[in-house]
Amino acid sequence: MTITGDLLIGGQTVRGKHGKMRAVNPATGKEMEPVFVGGDSHDVDKVCSLAQTAFDAYRSTGLEDRALFLEAIAQGIIDLGDELVDRVVSESGLTRGRIEGERARTCGQLRLFASIARAGRWLNPVIDPALPERQPLPRPDLRSRKIPVGPVAVFGASNFPLAFSVAGGDTAAALAAGCPVVAKSHPSHLGTSELVGRVIQAAVAKCDLPEGVFSLLVGEGNAVGEALVRHPAIQAVAFTGSRRGGLALVAMAAARPNPIPVFAEMSSTNPVFLLPAALAERGAALAKGLVDSATLGVGQFCTKPGIVLGIDGAAFQQFAKDAVIATENAAAGTMLNAGIHNAFLKGAEELQREDAVEQIAEGKAASTGHCAAQAMLFSTTAQAVLSTQRLTEEVFGPTTLLVACKDEAEMLAVAEQLEGQLTATIHLADSDLAIAQRLLPTLERKVGRILVNGFPTGVEVSHAMVHGGPFPSTSDNRATSVGGMAIERFLRPICYQNFPVELLPDALQPENPLSLWRLVDGKLQQP
Ligand code: NAP
Repeated sequence: MTITGDLLIGGQTVRGKHGKMRAVNPATGKEMEPVFVGGDSHDVDKVCSLAQTAFDAYRSTGLEDRALFLEAIAQGIIDLGDELVDRVVSESGLTRGRIEGERARTCGQLRLFASIARAGRWLNPVIDPALPERQPLPRPDLRSRKIPVGPVAVFGASNFPLAFSVAGGDTAAALAAGCPVVAKSHPSHLGTSELVGRVIQAAVAKCDLPEGVFSLLVGEGNAVGEALVRHPAIQAVAFTGSRRGGLALVAMAAARPNPIPVFAEMSSTNPVFLLPAALAERGAALAKGLVDSATLGVGQFCTKPGIVLGIDGAAFQQFAKDAVIATENAAAGTMLNAGIHNAFLKGAEELQREDAVEQIAEGKAASTGHCAAQAMLFSTTAQAVLSTQRLTEEVFGPTTLLVACKDEAEMLAVAEQLEGQLTATIHLADSDLAIAQRLLPTLERKVGRILVNGFPTGVEVSHAMVHGGPFPSTSDNRATSVGGMAIERFLRPICYQNFPVELLPDALQPENPLSLWRLVDGKLQQP
C-alpha cells in the first residue's frame, strides 16, 4: 500500500493545502517520505458533514454487521504485514517485538469490541411495563435503551502508534457503539496513521457502509484539531496525550455553544507501595521488577511506575541498592520523538535541581541515537514530597523516584497528597494485610486500578479493565479508555414512553428478537 500523505475524507483521498509535514525517524533524526499536506477548516467541515450524514444509517446497522466491520479492520491490519510493522518501527523508534505485540493487542481490541457489538449487552434494555391500575396514579409503559452519541473525534497518542491511535481502543469502542469516527493523525506517526486509516476506509467500502463512517485528517499545528473539537457535528472527543493538550481540548469543548464530553487520558505517576514484610521477603526481586517496569519501552507508558514508596530501614536501603544495580544495567533506548525526548531531559533536570532529591543511578549510555535516553533513578524523603507537589508529577520516560517514609503514617500522608492516578500498586506479604487495609480507602479515592504484587505496565484489554481514574489521570473519572466498558463513553440512554409496538426498536420489542438480557420490572430476565 502506498503512503501518499493525503487526507482520507470519507471514501476519497484528497490532497491537503495547508502546511507540509514529514514523519521523522527518531533514531536517526532523518525526515521520511512522503510529504504530508495538512487539511484546513473546510476539510474538517467536509468530514464532519459526512460523519453526520452517515450517523443514522450506521447506527441502524445490525449487531452482526457492525461486528463484521470491526473484524474486517483487524484482518486488514494483519494483512498489511511487515509493511506496517516496518513503518511503525521507523516512525516510533520502538522495537520490532514491541510493535508486533502492539499490533496483536490492537487487533485483539478490535475483535473484543466486535464481540461486544455482537452480544448487544451495551444496549442495556430496561422495560417498566405500564401499570394502568396503579393508585393514586397509573404508571405509563417505559422502555429505555442506550444509543450512540454521534460522530466522535479521536486524537491518537504518540506512545501507542497502533493501540491508542487511528484504529486503537477509542476508535474501536466508538465504532462498536455506532458512532462515526473522525481521527486526527499524531504528527509522530503520520505514515502509520495513513496505512491504518486506509485499512479502515477499505473496510467501510467492503462492508457497504456509508463513507462518512470514517475519515482521517492531518494538520500542521493545532488548527485542525481545534476545528474538529469545535465542529457542531462532533458529539464526543477521545484523546490520549499531555495534560496541557487534554485540558486545552476540554476547555474548547466546554466553550462550544453545545458543550460535549472530552475523554482525555493525560498524566499519572502510578505510585508503588512496598509494604514492610514484602520488602523484607523479596526486596531484590522487587527492585529488579520495578526497574524493568519503569524502563520498559523507554519509560513511555502511561502506567510507568514513577514513584516508589517504602518505610525506611535496612530492607528499604537494600532495596534501593538493588534498584541502583538494576538501573545501571538498564539499556538506553530511543524515545518517540524529539519533543518527548526534550521533555524527559527537562523533567530529569528539574529533579536534579531539587535540593532534597538525589540522583542515585544512571543506566547504560547510548552508543548512538538521536533521541536516546538513559534510565535514571532518584531518591528523596516523604517529607520532601509532602512539601513539594512537583515531585509527585509525571516525568514521561525511563525514570523513577524512590521515597523513603519514616513510618506508616508518613506513607499514608503521601498517598493522601497524590493527585488522581491510573494505577497504584501494593506489594505485600501476609503480615502486611493490616497496613494495606489502612491504605486502601485513600487509594480507592485516587486511583482507577489497584494492583497487588504486580507491576502496572501491561494493561490487559478485557471486560473488567479500568484504564482511567480521577483528574489529572483523566478528565472524566467515570470512564475507562481500555477494555469493554470503554464503549460506555460513546453511548447515552433514551427512554420511550407509551410507544406503540410498531415504533419500538428491536431491543425493546415484546418478543425480544435480539435475544438480549433485559431488566423487566426491576428483574433481570434471560432471553
Ligand atoms: P500531545 O502533545 O498532548 O498531543 C497529542 C495529540 O493532541 C496530537 O495529535 C496533538 O496534535 C493534539 N493536540 C495537543 N494539543 C492540542 C491543542 N491545544 N489543540 C489541538 N490539538 C492538540 O501529546 P504527545 O505528543 O503524545 O506527548 C507529549 C507528552 O504527553 C509526553 O511528553 C507525555 O508527558 C504526555 N503523554 C502522556 C501519555 C499518557 O498516557 N498519560 C501518553 C502519551 C504522552 P498536534 O501536535 O498536531 O497539535
